[in-house]
Amino acid sequence: MRLSQRIDGLPPYFFREITRKISEKRARGEEIISFAIGDPDSPTPAHIINRLCQAAQDPANHQYPESDGLPELRRAIAGWYEKRFGVSLDADKEVLPLIGAKEGVVHAALCFIDPGDIALVPDPGYPPYAMGTILADGRPYYMPLTEENDFLPDLETIPSDVIKQAKLLWINYPNNPTGAVAELDFFNRVVKFARQYDLAVCHDGPYTEVAFDDYQPASFIQTEGAMEAGIEFHSLSKSYNMTGWRIGMAVGNAEMIDALKRVKSNMDSGIPQAIQYAAIEALTGPQDLVRERSLRYQRRRDLVVDMLNDIGLETRRPKAGLYVWAKVPGSHTSLEFANDLLEQVGVVVTPGIGFGQNGEGYVRLSLTISDANLVKGLSRLAGWHNR
Ligand SMILES: *Cc1c(COP(=O)(O)O)cnc(C)c1O
Repeated sequence: MRLSQRIDGLPPYFFREITRKISEKRARGEEIISFAIGDPDSPTPAHIINRLCQAAQDPANHQYPESDGLPELRRAIAGWYEKRFGVSLDADKEVLPLIGAKEGVVHAALCFIDPGDIALVPDPGYPPYAMGTILADGRPYYMPLTEENDFLPDLETIPSDVIKQAKLLWINYPNNPTGAVAELDFFNRVVKFARQYDLAVCHDGPYTEVAFDDYQPASFIQTEGAMEAGIEFHSLSKSYNMTGWRIGMAVGNAEMIDALKRVKSNMDSGIPQAIQYAAIEALTGPQDLVRERSLRYQRRRDLVVDMLNDIGLETRRPKAGLYVWAKVPGSHTSLEFANDLLEQVGVVVTPGIGFGQNGEGYVRLSLTISDANLVKGLSRLAGWHNR
């Protein structure tokens, strides 16, 4: 049997060794505290689950859904964007529900990338931007996100021969893994750059609803000219604790949305309708839970950032998102440092190298850890420091 070159082109799994050690330790009965997983620790709000259960009882929802989603869901998404960001979207042409944002992110590559084409992707970054490119036989060009540039890509330094072969530009704010945010002036520069070089922009924004200290992250779609330049991915996963239900959306440029719809209609047969009704409930129902949840993450953020800075892991206080991005002390690689923490105090953090070469020298800690484990994890970190 011969696998495709495409499969061989996918990079090795970085965390194999650490994952193996974690399972061994847990099997021996050791308690491991993990800051590695970015998955909300609280359940989906009850009113959303109730709507899901009710919809599951209706035989109309037992049959194939439409691949572009219920019109009511597309309208609920457009209404939510209007209310939250003040942008008006055509629910039929500029909105597309997805089986989670990741599904759309990877399939978007098939809409724009021909063999050999380049996609500009952030480094460090959420791996699916590059992986989707590779699966479409394209080539990722890694744009460094550095602390000096507030973890925004420096578009001016991308070599001109690279830009000539590039079709797609990926950005993601509030950012995973760096915790950085972007303002409208950055999105404005992105729109101008995309227009100048005829690039399609894909902004991935699943963390706009997880924000702290009254900060309100912007949507790329709010930028003047954004509707001509690109689309935005969003998700109910982080906003409404719905990672397990798999539902998200793409909104923006009608031609790009249509291309994604055409790819998807040949691949999947839509989102289970009961889940679409749950999403409508999430987007149109009470929103106070979103704020309460953000306040909980904010308290955790402060505990984590204060502790890390105390023990010598230089860390900025993120304004949004689920992650704290901390500098590895001394001259260890991120993998060595993560390994040491696991061996010495049974604490798991994600090595930055897993997000790209420019992630080296950093580790990521997620705030989606129960308060009890958070306290336990932090006291182990303090103990590690004082050894
Ligand atoms: C969590 C996350 C997603 C959301 O994915 P879903 O497939 O909707 O669960 C998308 N992009 C980034 C950067 C993420 O961290």
